[in-house]
Amino acid sequence: MSQDLQARLDLIRAAREMAARGLAAGTSGNVSLRAAAGILITPSAVPYEALTPEMIPLLRSDGSFEGRFRPSSEWRFHLDIYLSRPEVGGVVHHHAPYCTALAMARQEIPPCHYMITRFGGGNVRCADYALFGTAELSHAVLVALEGRTGCLMANHGGLAVGRDVFAALGAATELEVLAQQYLLSLQAGGPALLSDQEIGEAINQFAVAYKPNTGG
Ligand code: 13P
Ligand code: ZN
Repeated sequence: MSQDLQARLDLIRAAREMAARGLAAGTSGNVSLRAAAGILITPSAVPYEALTPEMIPLLRSDGSFEGRFRPSSEWRFHLDIYLSRPEVGGVVHHHAPYCTALAMARQEIPPCHYMITRFGGGNVRCADYALFGTAELSHAVLVALEGRTGCLMANHGGLAVGRDVFAALGAATELEVLAQQYLLSLQAGGPALLSDQEIGEAINQFAVAYKPNTGG
């Protein structure tokens, strides 16, 4: 199988899995990955079950695209993330319920659980509101994502990045779980927040005591 076909199949698998996990209802959300020839991104307004490899648009760094189907309306923030974050190989954006509930309240996730450090620091920011599909939204997302691998998007949803599309999907799933846990803790009287020192210790503990477990 060619590398290009494998990348298209990976994108479709990740997009369908996003929907199967309850992170994206209908045609909400979008998924992309960095491939050898450019960026492969889900087409706009097409149900994920209907996707076939030839329907996947290829986006070039100048914003032009190849393919019969137009790319996701959010191609700008996908492209801008790849251009400004060379370590990123996959991007997942969703309207999952708990992330979106917090985003509708324009609230960030504070240091309420050590797992927040998985996203790069002591908080997950909420990007300023901007109309979907605009360069303004892309700018707001880049600001909220600085030093982070996930963010919320005001009155919209959530977004996560990873070294590849499956890592991005994993992060997007964990972001939704964290948002759910935070919202539940608010009902339990509100979380006790971790200090900067405790967040620093958690980051360090991940680096020294929670490395990938490869069996060696
Ligand atoms: P697309 O179908 O154009 O990707 O739009 C879905 C979405 O989530 C817009 O923010
Ligand atoms: Zn959206």
